Amino acid sequence: MNRPAPHTLRTVTGDLPVGSVGGPVLAHEHLVLDLDRRGDGAAVLHPELHAAAVTAELATLRVESGLALVVELTCRGMGRDIGALARISRDARVAVVAATGWYYEPFHTPEIDAGDVEQLTGVLVREIEGGIDGTGIRPGVLGEIGSHGDVPTPSEAKVLRAGARAAVRTGLSVATHAQLGRGGLAQLELLTGEGLPAHRIGIGHQDLLDDPGVHRELAAEGAYVAFDTVGKTSYQDDRTRLRLLLALVEAGHADRALLSCDISRHGYLLDEGGQGYGHLFRSFLPRLRAAGADDDLVDLLTRRNPLRFLTGASEEDN
Ligand SMILES: [Zn+2]
Repeated sequence: MNRPAPHTLRTVTGDLPVGSVGGPVLAHEHLVLDLDRRGDGAAVLHPELHAAAVTAELATLRVESGLALVVELTCRGMGRDIGALARISRDARVAVVAATGWYYEPFHTPEIDAGDVEQLTGVLVREIEGGIDGTGIRPGVLGEIGSHGDVPTPSEAKVLRAGARAAVRTGLSVATHAQLGRGGLAQLELLTGEGLPAHRIGIGHQDLLDDPGVHRELAAEGAYVAFDTVGKTSYQDDRTRLRLLLALVEAGHADRALLSCDISRHGYLLDEGGQGYGHLFRSFLPRLRAAGADDDLVDLLTRRNPLRFLTGASEEDN
């Protein structure tokens, strides 16, 4: 089985030694996607129309904040464009890890109904080993594999199981989409039930769930708790996010938190007046520091944690 070598990240421009990632990582973003269901084009980052603005933002963040890596969680049925990701990564000179999997049920593709768990696992493993859309470019993570509600639907459960099996077989980790933060514990149970260790799992959108007890439980199980919609103030204000993150840190689980902005509409881009990919660095991290976080904690949250999540390494390794 062709696994990534330990301490190596599989990026859209080739394998990258973990040790060369000296700056922060955005753990859950979209650079190109199409989630347009209303026909208004709002939930789109077009590979041509918006790529220049996306590239410019990343290049600026590389210079300004040392941005070293973006984990791009656009998967099957979400408008993924692997060629565009490679171009953006090269032009911005920021490494990008691409993904495979399926999102939550409204975005499921016909192949999910047609296949059983093993067949869907095969689809994912083939993409991980053979590359995406005939390009030979291989995903370095599974995600964002989704569910909505407190319990995944049967179709979502099938996809979560297939994602876990593909992760076990290929040595990748799984990042989830827990709609509005709900259902994370059920996702974790399904994924670990297929033999995937909790430390290979990141439960998404937990900053939208104002329930520190659930965050502690996920972290205590060993899973990563993603505060990945920072700046999306129509869903949650950043003051609440900060309080929830500090609660998780104070509970002794700083090594389990992941941070990102989940830019998923062109209206969120800076040049359209949005918060941009840099909101984490320009707004949220200064507030975190003002609340007492030192350089080591910021480095843990923004670099060592996402790298450890991707590779499955332990804290002593990075
Ligand atoms: Zn997302």
